[in-house]
Amino acid sequence: MTRIVIIGAGFGGIAAAIELIKDSRHDVTILEKADRIGGVWRDNTYPGCACDIPAPLYSYSFAQNPAWSRRYPPHREILDYLERCATRHGIMGRIRFGTEVTGADWDGRRWTVTLAGGERIVADVLIPAVGQLSRPSIPSLPGAADFRGVALHTAHWRPDVPVDGRRIAVIGTGASAIQLVPAIAGRAAHVTVFQRTPPWTLPKPDRRYGRLRHGAYRRVPPLMRASRAGTWLLTLVAGAAVTGNRVTAPLVRAASHLQRRIQVRDPRLRAQVTPDEPMGCKRILFTNAWYPALARPDVDLVTEKIIAVTEDGIRTADGVDHPCDVLVYGTGFAATEFLVPMRITGRDGAELAEAWRAGAHAYLGMTVPGFPNMFLVYGPNTNTGNTSVIYFHEVQARYIAQAVRLVAHGDKPLEVRAERAAGYDAEIQSRLAGSVWTGCQSWYRTASGRVVTNWPGKAQEYRRRAARVDRSDFR
Ligand code: NAP
Repeated sequence: MTRIVIIGAGFGGIAAAIELIKDSRHDVTILEKADRIGGVWRDNTYPGCACDIPAPLYSYSFAQNPAWSRRYPPHREILDYLERCATRHGIMGRIRFGTEVTGADWDGRRWTVTLAGGERIVADVLIPAVGQLSRPSIPSLPGAADFRGVALHTAHWRPDVPVDGRRIAVIGTGASAIQLVPAIAGRAAHVTVFQRTPPWTLPKPDRRYGRLRHGAYRRVPPLMRASRAGTWLLTLVAGAAVTGNRVTAPLVRAASHLQRRIQVRDPRLRAQVTPDEPMGCKRILFTNAWYPALARPDVDLVTEKIIAVTEDGIRTADGVDHPCDVLVYGTGFAATEFLVPMRITGRDGAELAEAWRAGAHAYLGMTVPGFPNMFLVYGPNTNTGNTSVIYFHEVQARYIAQAVRLVAHGDKPLEVRAERAAGYDAEIQSRLAGSVWTGCQSWYRTASGRVVTNWPGKAQEYRRRAARVDRSDFR
């Protein structure tokens, strides 16, 4: 038996587990710190939370769902889908819930995984699958501790957060905030949105999926696969447009400007929401409801810099106080701090945090020199701006299953060669250096400017390169 510990029961961890349990000689355990599966889809429950990648693509290729209620379903439906997949594939019984991993140490032959309560678990293979967007980032604003109302991050929304009839302040205009604000505008007494940088947006081609479609997909599954393939093609075209295609990029830019021209009548507001960063250097946001929400009389857009939080609200650089009862941080995630706060110690006592001091890196985003028999899911440079990360998770799950087979059949641990990993990293970073993602400050980059989250090429290139484990890549 090969003892495998997966950390995290989100889409990535579940994909790895489904692939690994196909081999009955593997003993797979998933350690999950929360009390249910789902990762970001469990944590993010703010009003309006939904997927901004079409569901036929934002789902496992091997478990297509004929019953999506719409092209961009709400988070609850995605969570239900993942739970169904995990149950059908026999994963639920392998998960230890309420189990937080604080660290893992390699002793030359195996990993010892330490849990928050002090318990230790021994594993031959360690698979961290904790995602890139699991640790909320909250700016440290002076006076924040003195705020007398309710303050919370979008990823920590609770059903008891008062919205109706309250004054709500939302900091940030990223993917989360542009879903939240339209959902609470009209319910709240007033919404004040604090914008630092206006995002690039496009109309969201959302639509309901009715009974006719559900029936057709159930009876003729190839139709469902065709819909997935069509969506895939569209994201390829959109991705090419965003990443600088000389013909399509101006068209996408024009579509974004046209959306503002049609949806924002007030020229002052339109000027405020017109982006000035290069298109695509941050995620392009699909929305039909954002600008109409901002144009409402009970919603204000504030573009002045926030200088402090007071007992009653937010103060901006122009000296104006903006009172609120609820303060929502839609300020994103600490995405560049991979595996923090876990302490991982590899061969010869090497600390992963030290190996990643200049920025996280991993060969194919999965394996790190000095850390044998450890494979990451959704590791460094495997995020995608325009297609589904679940596609990447599946590629990684298959690669890891092959690698684990090598571990199981060999008598030596599997450790990627340092020179192979360094060459790969140099290539990825040089490609990223000229990419659109270096065009602005975003969660893709570390403070030193290194892009550590995103994959520089097309998803198919990643699939091709990670399709087979090359034994010569390893010591
Ligand atoms: P985000 O895209 O990183 O946006 C954070 C927002 O907060 C930005 O507008 C940022 O402004 C602002 N901000 C941060 N610090 C600030 C400060 N000190 N003062 C003022 N504004 C500040 O975060 P997110 O919206 O949570 O989205 C993160 C990622 O989650 C997305 O890119 C996406 O991958 C994922 N997501 C996906 C979906 C989905 O539908 N699949 C939905 C939500 C989120 P700047 O732009 O100036 O930095």
